[in-house]
Amino acid sequence: MLGAAGAHENVPGHPVQVHPHVSPAQAAFDKLFWDIDDGVYPIGSRVDALKLLAWLRSAVPAGDVHRELQYRYMHCLLGFQHVAEGALDYAREGVAAARDAGDGASEAALRLCLGQQLVGHGDIGAARQEFERAAELARRSHDFNVHGIALVQRGHLRMDAGEVALGLQDLLDAQAVFEEGKVEFQIEFNLFSIAQAYRRIGDLDQADEYLGRVMDFGRARDDALVLGVTLVERARLRSAQGRHAEAEADLEEALALSRQRGSDDDVTMIHLALADVYNAASRPREALEALETASAGYARTGDSPEPGRIEFATGVARSRLGQHQAALDAFDRALPALLDRDDMPSVMLLYQARAISREALGDPAGALADLREYGRMRRDAAERITDQRVLALSHGFDARYRDLQNARLRLEQERTERLAAAERQKTPWRLASIALGGALVVLLVSLAVLQARRTLGLRRMASTDPLTGAANRRAIQQIATKTIAAADAPACLVLLDLDHFKQVNDRFGHGVGDQVLVRTVATWNTVLRQGDRLGRLGGEEFLVVLPGAGIGAGMQVAGRLLEATRAMDLSDLGEGLQLTVSLGVAQIGSGDRTLEAVLERADAALYKAKDNGRDRIELAEPRGTEDTSP
Ligand code: GH3
Ligand code: MG
Ligand code: MG
Repeated sequence: MLGAAGAHENVPGHPVQVHPHVSPAQAAFDKLFWDIDDGVYPIGSRVDALKLLAWLRSAVPAGDVHRELQYRYMHCLLGFQHVAEGALDYAREGVAAARDAGDGASEAALRLCLGQQLVGHGDIGAARQEFERAAELARRSHDFNVHGIALVQRGHLRMDAGEVALGLQDLLDAQAVFEEGKVEFQIEFNLFSIAQAYRRIGDLDQADEYLGRVMDFGRARDDALVLGVTLVERARLRSAQGRHAEAEADLEEALALSRQRGSDDDVTMIHLALADVYNAASRPREALEALETASAGYARTGDSPEPGRIEFATGVARSRLGQHQAALDAFDRALPALLDRDDMPSVMLLYQARAISREALGDPAGALADLREYGRMRRDAAERITDQRVLALSHGFDARYRDLQNARLRLEQERTERLAAAERQKTPWRLASIALGGALVVLLVSLAVLQARRTLGLRRMASTDPLTGAANRRAIQQIATKTIAAADAPACLVLLDLDHFKQVNDRFGHGVGDQVLVRTVATWNTVLRQGDRLGRLGGEEFLVVLPGAGIGAGMQVAGRLLEATRAMDLSDLGEGLQLTVSLGVAQIGSGDRTLEAVLERADAALYKAKDNGRDRIELAEPRGTEDTSP
């Protein structure tokens, strides 16, 4: 029985659904879905994304609820930047559909998407709630990928709100989740976010170190997206450190990579970033040239950068060129937009630059007012950074994170940290350049695609059965193995096999059969205790691991599962549709060494339950008569 229901994996690493019956239409959809996930079809522009989505849409088999949800999920992810029109409603509908289907894992992923959409619409409070719900749902369905990403997203929102220390905590919690789930890509790429957090608390060398590691990872994998995004972030960092030439070199490399990939959107945005670097390096003519290239790029694609960004950079360049009236005009256009976006680092720099132009145009009172405002904001920013830094250190985050690193790196970090701390003391000007660094944006398109790929890629590694949201075969086997190895307390395994399930399919169709599986898992989840773990071994066969349960507790939980199955109202799925289940319960003995041994006993008990007429529980023979016999 166990062997027959094995998960067959055709592509290494892909959790192919344990469906014995995958129709050709379903198989075609699945292949396209995973190919998109694998980056088989490069997405360099909005048009690419729209084309792919239309293709995937047309591949959804009629009436296939699960694949419809998968499509919505992809739509939501790629829609993050590319198809904002209507994407918010679409994500909301997806969440509702997943909830109605009792599909907790999909609901978690879709809430993650919905949160990203809400961020795009500036509804930060609501976005944060979605991330929190996504994290909780994903935690319950053991989807380490979505769980970790939801924490990362909340961390970014917190950092944007100035709560950098709390944001860093989220990122480190996420790192622990990624490590627990062995989510390889995320373990490496999360360092990118952690580097951003360190930049924001003024620990630029630490940030540089982490970005360097992400870069190594990107080069090792030959991943142009990871490399491009990391180069732009590092340029921003180096610009803030006053390392203008290195910042420029990073952007030039990012530019070459984007051109190679044919990503016009990124090429445009990198020019905008270059303009900021040229301004910071007092090269206003080159800044204006880069701005012109960027504007032409936006005109071509019909996109637009964040409001106020081009005007602000233009003002700084004009001011540097002594074209003060033109500078003031540009600042007038930029300021309301910057204030509206709460981009205080840019506002602060605008006051500083505007003071110079105002003075040059014979307005000393205006210049003085600007300088006062600039000074006040700078002090505030310095205080905030110090506060957050102290908070971060006092929470011991550094130490916690370094625990996850190897010893060599640990020593190096402490050294650079000490150097950085010493240097920060004598260079207050750094604060201003940190703020200037804040005026650079990351590669939005690449980052969006990377986010999407990151989330999807996680699915590949995911430990969740995509249909039911229960742990998949590999994950539940791991959990059971760990429980057996621990064996300091009693524990039970319950093996479940739905009765006459073939008849359900035959009478009501395979789609209804799928829905019954989803419904059953959702129902079982309501009667399991905290700490109990449910997994799908394959087909209509499940395993429940009950840590800490002796025979009495084990039989009690099994009884609840049996009753809950009988009591399910499935009449909306098919007239007269009813379901029962057979269960085999085995206690893990102190002498049990392998999962196979315990499963064998549970399996024998399950056979007995089937033989005795189904819809019942049988307890396995206690272990080890062979141990006590001579
Ligand atoms: P019993 O266990 O009571 O002896 O009868 P059964 O009909 O449940 O037995 P069997 O294990 O032979 O058949 C299991 C059936 O479950 C085969 C297949 O049609 C169905 N099945 C397995 N996986 C899925 C799935 O993912 N979706 C649907 N709809 N059906 C599935
Ligand atoms: Mg079976
Ligand atoms: Mg069965």
